[in-house]
Amino acid sequence: MTPIHIIGGGLAGSEAAWQIAQAGLPVVLHEMRPVRKTDAHQTEGLAELVCSNSFRSDDSEQNAVGLIHHELRQLGSLIMSCADAHQVPAAVHLPWIGTDSPTL
Ligand SMILES: Cc1cc2nc3c(=O)[nH]c(=O)nc-3n(C[C@H](O)[C@H](O)[C@H](O)COP(=O)(O)OP(=O)(O)OC[C@H]3O[C@@H](n4cnc5c(N)ncnc54)[C@H](O)[C@@H]3O)c2cc1C
Repeated sequence: MTPIHIIGGGLAGSEAAWQIAQAGLPVVLHEMRPVRKTDAHQTEGLAELVCSNSFRSDDSEQNAVGLIHHELRQLGSLIMSCADAHQVPAAVHLPWIGTDSPTL
């Protein structure tokens, strides 16, 4: 079977590759870093969340971002399972602690 090619291993591309693989289909994920850098990303890693490392609100009742979190969890999201595994308390927000976090 011809693989599905995904260009870019950011949050969206990494999640898409995971979902395709979970569906039993062949997938190739292409990421340009570190050969070519971006102005925003600082690492070579896939699914890097740039800047503040916050996934914003996790309130699925009152906030659109929180609702998307909820829907992603229902779909078995790899990104959300990583965020949940590494979250720290911060009101209704879902911080993702990265390597450059000032709290580490
Ligand atoms: C300064 C800044 C601060 C931010 N802060 C936050 C925050 O605190 N919280 C938050 O939730 N969101 C934040 N965001 C937004 C968040 O980074 C984006 O919403 C998210 O990264 C989008 O994910 P994406 O997968 O669509 O794109 P990206 O994460 O940008 O992923 C795209 C990927 O594609 C790769 N790529 C691009 N072109 C090619 C190519 N031709 N070949 C191969 N690979 C390629 C790139 O290297 C990158 O890895 C911030 C954004 C910026 C710019």
